[in-house]
Amino acid sequence: MKTIGLLGGMSWESSALYYRILNEEVKDLLGGLHSARCVMLSVDFAEIERLQMAGEWERAGERLAEEARRIEAAGAEMLLLCTNTMHKLAPQIEAAISIPFLHIADATGAAIRKAGLQTVGLLGTRFTMEEEFYAARLREHWDLEVLVPDPAGREIVHKIIYKELVLGIVREESRREYLRIIDGLRRRGAEGIIEGCTEIGMLIGPEHTDVPLFDTTRIHALAAVEAALSE
Ligand code: GLU
Repeated sequence: MKTIGLLGGMSWESSALYYRILNEEVKDLLGGLHSARCVMLSVDFAEIERLQMAGEWERAGERLAEEARRIEAAGAEMLLLCTNTMHKLAPQIEAAISIPFLHIADATGAAIRKAGLQTVGLLGTRFTMEEEFYAARLREHWDLEVLVPDPAGREIVHKIIYKELVLGIVREESRREYLRIIDGLRRRGAEGIIEGCTEIGMLIGPEHTDVPLFDTTRIHALAAVEAALSE
């Protein structure tokens, strides 16, 4: 089994989910007392969030590249960056390491293709919904059509992530807002919804809607287990 590297802490709430999913999946596949070989470096999210809000992406990229090198030095044989948003900096991080970087949008694109869908709605931070690094990759590498909420919807989705979900706060009222926004995307043609922020699965699960959900945390973690157990 290969050692999975996780660059986490963005937020720790979702990194804890990654850790659980990795271990549960290895246990399911290998049985007995098997668990995932992994190394996690979990950053202080306050520092990263400050750089995001200040638009200091170059500096954030340097910081994450530095941490990625530490994870490789600790013995990881692949890297997961446990946040969709910071994949904005994927090229900078990837260039700093020599182990494979498992891009979250590629794992997600593959899962959507496998489900046979063509048009999907994307929920995430405003960076993920409004910038090209994520949707363009889904379009170009996976030939998908990606819809995002209107500006008012994007504002709500973004705010709930930073004010609630990354703090572990899950409110019924916020769930209703998300479901309303998901309905809007469906009416515009979305056949499935990408939970393109690693905390959204805490708020919306298959028990809340019948639209196919693509939970990036789960998809990314499962792709890592597959890679770790492959020859
Ligand atoms: N975990 C979130 C994501 O997947 C947001 C936190 C962050 O800004 O990294 O995008």
